[in-house]
Amino acid sequence: MRKHIVAGNWKMNCTFNEADDLINGIMEQLEQKELPRDTKLIVCPPFPYLEMTTDYANDSYFMVGAQNVSDQEKGAYTGEVSAEMLESMELDYCIVGHSERRAYYGETNKTVAAKVDQLLKHGLKPIVCVGEVLEEREANRQFEVVKQQVEEGLFHLSAEQMKEVVIAYEPVWAIGTGKTATPEQAQEIHHYIRTLLTEKYGKELAEEISILYGGSCKPSNAKELFANTDVDGGLIGGASLKAEDFIAIALSF
Ligand code: PEP
Repeated sequence: MRKHIVAGNWKMNCTFNEADDLINGIMEQLEQKELPRDTKLIVCPPFPYLEMTTDYANDSYFMVGAQNVSDQEKGAYTGEVSAEMLESMELDYCIVGHSERRAYYGETNKTVAAKVDQLLKHGLKPIVCVGEVLEEREANRQFEVVKQQVEEGLFHLSAEQMKEVVIAYEPVWAIGTGKTATPEQAQEIHHYIRTLLTEKYGKELAEEISILYGGSCKPSNAKELFANTDVDGGLIGGASLKAEDFIAIALSF
């Protein structure tokens, strides 16, 4: 059976001391409240705090991911961070294709595919974000958009590689806006993504892939979102910056 996953995307937030406090807060929460065995917790801090976070993670029950990676192997790419570097820090996951990267840094499905390849080559699991913007939803184009993102970003992978991937459906109109997709809207797209995976890779593999929901997920709405058959957890932005809220979400299955 596929894992429940709750991943916190801190984005570009926290000073060093704030990051230290947040991780300690998460660890305190985890000491008080035990997560079910089938729930995986992932923390994705900014690059400068990855080392500190992995040090803490060794003593606690969470995994660590980066928020971005270069689509290139190595060399003269000033400011970039390679998959090989993340591998050498023993990271587990990396977010790819977040809508903010797509909107502000020109990340395309082709870039996403190249980043996914880099991560898999270096033994990291990509958390690949897909989702439509408001105008696309209003024009009822969400299926078409998500299909293209999934096909162009992921469908060059072999079945073995695909097993390592986590998909996050994040309707862009719900990210950081306080507007959450309804449980029905989330389930509809999650089910659609699983159908695409079934058609390409077969039912058995499609049933193994965790598909997370992201977009203003918080303790008050996580339970009804996670109750859907095809919603296997959440990618959490704002609410992952409060240890108590983040863990409350992880306890919402
Ligand atoms: C995100 O950016 O991945 C996200 C889901 O953000 P928020 O929870 O703040 O909407």
